Amino acid sequence: MPVSPNDRAEFDTIILGVGGMGAAACYELARRGHRVLGLDQFSLVHDRGSSHGESRIIRKAYFEHPDYVPLLHRAYERWYELEQATGRPLLRPTGLVLSGSAEGETICGARLSARQHGLQLQNFTAAQARLRFPGLEFPTQHDVAFEPGAGTLLVDDCVQAHVDEAIRHGATLRGNEPIIDWCSDGQTVSVRTSAREYVARKLVITAGAWSNDCLTDIGLQLTILRKFVGWFPVRAGEYQATSGTPTYFFELSGRTFYGFPSFDGATIKVAEHSGGEPVLDPIHVDRGCHLADLDGLRSFLKTYLPNAQPNLARHSVCLYTLTSDKHFVIDVHPCWKNVVFAAGFSGHGFKFCPVVGEILADLAENTKTSLPIEFLSLKRPDLKFQSSQ
Ligand SMILES: Cc1cc2nc3c(=O)[nH]c(=O)nc-3n(C[C@H](O)[C@H](O)[C@H](O)COP(=O)(O)OP(=O)(O)OC[C@H]3O[C@@H](n4cnc5c(N)ncnc54)[C@H](O)[C@@H]3O)c2cc1C
Repeated sequence: MPVSPNDRAEFDTIILGVGGMGAAACYELARRGHRVLGLDQFSLVHDRGSSHGESRIIRKAYFEHPDYVPLLHRAYERWYELEQATGRPLLRPTGLVLSGSAEGETICGARLSARQHGLQLQNFTAAQARLRFPGLEFPTQHDVAFEPGAGTLLVDDCVQAHVDEAIRHGATLRGNEPIIDWCSDGQTVSVRTSAREYVARKLVITAGAWSNDCLTDIGLQLTILRKFVGWFPVRAGEYQATSGTPTYFFELSGRTFYGFPSFDGATIKVAEHSGGEPVLDPIHVDRGCHLADLDGLRSFLKTYLPNAQPNLARHSVCLYTLTSDKHFVIDVHPCWKNVVFAAGFSGHGFKFCPVVGEILADLAENTKTSLPIEFLSLKRPDLKFQSSQ
């Protein structure tokens, strides 16, 4: 991008929030030759937002909607590229087993995506699944589906890899510098932080759980939820990723639980996907561990992973940012064509980071992308806004 002598802009593009999506956008824009400034309120790669805690599921038979599948094909390609560029393993090929009623959202939705996109999804009865996945229990009335191509992303390493690659391509990334406000005149943006003011041509907003505050004039109705994640001890040799235990996701009469095999040889991580307490101020979310956090996880373990131990080894608290229809919102700002944003990743966004980085770079450059994201647009009918409550 040529810079005219009168240009006030020090940077081509500023990224507000260098978490999962923001780090990917910094990398993609820097790779394309932009002068990038990425700013985060916390240190780079931290555990206060939504992109930490060891592991994230990646899968293609997407029960949330088949329209995500083309983006997932691209995301897989880009994760593999990032692994190659950094020489760091990021995606472990664990496979994913889904258990639920044949009519439930999980099994029905995964089968629909698999059918529409020709994806490999193996079907089992509960009895067959018990033999295939030792140590896991499946309700007799459940259908079980196994996606062999699914895997586990090492979430903290993934964010670090995007940060490192962004810096290697010339991006300036600054942690511990919160953005207090921003404004645009359509040509340039001014961004005021705790330290100073910056001017750039474009602004990319990837603020995660803080998106309501950073996108006030859009009035997205985003709900922030506190999510508790626990690691529980297992005996040597049990539930090991290396011996073929997959990631697992159970839809159980109104509640959904998921978890990972053991990567450290000593513990497994499990969590509830449903539920969670609304959070008013994400900075001051309760990061403690309470009996109510443990009850559901312990009873899930007792029934479905009975060889795991119920005494908690460690825990983490993370944030979901939900839109009204639980689909992401990625778009150009309706008032300013030089401001683009990605928000509301609704507890299932991490696997998309590299493709979201690519989409944001396209939108920042041209206000459009060839990737199929119409269903994630601000103008879709099911998205609710604060004024439409
Ligand atoms: C427990 C849990 C389990 C999950 N499991 C999965 C899974 O298995 N698979 C999957 O695909 N997804 C999963 N997700 C969802 C996924 O992790 C999130 O959708 C994704 O990480 C969101 O990334 P983000 O960039 O939007 O948010 P973040 O990574 O939180 O980034 C937002 C960043 O913006 C910064 N920021 C905000 N405001 C400002 C400001 N004013 N100034 C400067 N910086 C600011 C924040 O500090 C933060 O670093 C899970 C999420 C959680 C919490």
